[in-house]
Amino acid sequence: MANRSLLLSAGIIFIPVAALLGSLGIGHILLKGTDKHQIQSKYTAVLSAQAASKKQSLALEVKPVAPTPVIFSVPEEFRGTVTSQIQPRVEDKVIALTFDDGPAPKYTQQILEILKQENIKATFFCVGEMVHYFPQLAKQEVAEGHVIGNHTWHHWLQKMNSQVAANEIESTATAIFEATGVKTSLFRPPYGALNNGVADYAKKNNYAVLMWSDDSQDYRRPSVARVVNNVLREAKPGGMVLMHDGGGNRTQTVAALPKIIANLKQQGYRFVTVPQLLAIQAQKATLTTVTPSHQPNQGT
Ligand SMILES: [Zn+2]
Repeated sequence: MANRSLLLSAGIIFIPVAALLGSLGIGHILLKGTDKHQIQSKYTAVLSAQAASKKQSLALEVKPVAPTPVIFSVPEEFRGTVTSQIQPRVEDKVIALTFDDGPAPKYTQQILEILKQENIKATFFCVGEMVHYFPQLAKQEVAEGHVIGNHTWHHWLQKMNSQVAANEIESTATAIFEATGVKTSLFRPPYGALNNGVADYAKKNNYAVLMWSDDSQDYRRPSVARVVNNVLREAKPGGMVLMHDGGGNRTQTVAALPKIIANLKQQGYRFVTVPQLLAIQAQKATLTTVTPSHQPNQGT
């Protein structure tokens, strides 16, 4: 009786253990030496064949592309200041496209698609509430190499005490960080309002406050042709173009964007993000300081 129950319990233990070993694919360790060897070399052959064909298909399908770094660092001299444009070197025709009030379904996606086709990186000043509702879009912006800035939670114009201003900016910073993993030091005040308390909070907290030099006035929805003309009329090297991907119907913005890009490209402009624009200015300042103002006379 005792032996039987011992055998039974041994069986009860052995069956699940064998099944477990089998299911883990390590059953072959129980095989005899030669079988084990054959199986292993067969397995190795299959693996290396798979690797070779994978390598080949990768070589055919994927060209190596250097990753484009997302520059979110802002030169120190722009922290706590308000900037509308920069003065690049004459030959440096750089311009920054900026989109406010998103992310918004449909329009943000359409704009991202155009930017991708044109290989352009832009800057999105996001409303915290929109990031909260559409975190995937904010994530996509960053994933595709664009820069995100803070545009407050509610997009209020009213006067704000420091507590309200803090909430507006900090809650948005948190939403952006949670959606994208990015901590932005760029801020644009809604309506460009610099005197209602919110920009003061941003400056005190070391944000670079960014305005614009080129207003598309797309928020008025004046017609696609007018949005295009507004941007082109005010376009200048070192400029920042104000457009909107959220906050209302942005069909005109989406339709105007390819025309704006085509024209500016034709004029020889290259498109940069706001941090890149600021870095160009900072670099120029350094060069101006270091380089002597007169080249030595070469004797002619
Ligand atoms: Zn806005």
